[in-house]
Amino acid sequence: MTSNPTFSCSACGAPNKPEAGTSRMACTYCGTNLTIPENLQTAARPRWKNFVEGQTRYPSGKRSA
Ligand SMILES: [Zn+2]
Repeated sequence: MTSNPTFSCSACGAPNKPEAGTSRMACTYCGTNLTIPENLQTAARPRWKNFVEGQTRYPSGKRSA
């Protein structure tokens, strides 16, 4: 086992544990949007792609009647 990888928040300096399958997250302590360092990013799950595709489809389906 290795020690838990963490990276410091750019705003408050608190140690954050990188979320799995994403490159961005909010600081656990101050809520600032953080970019997870590439070397700490973990592999995304297969479902991740479907989730994003569903999101991009949503706005285009909106009608302005
Ligand atoms: Zn912070």
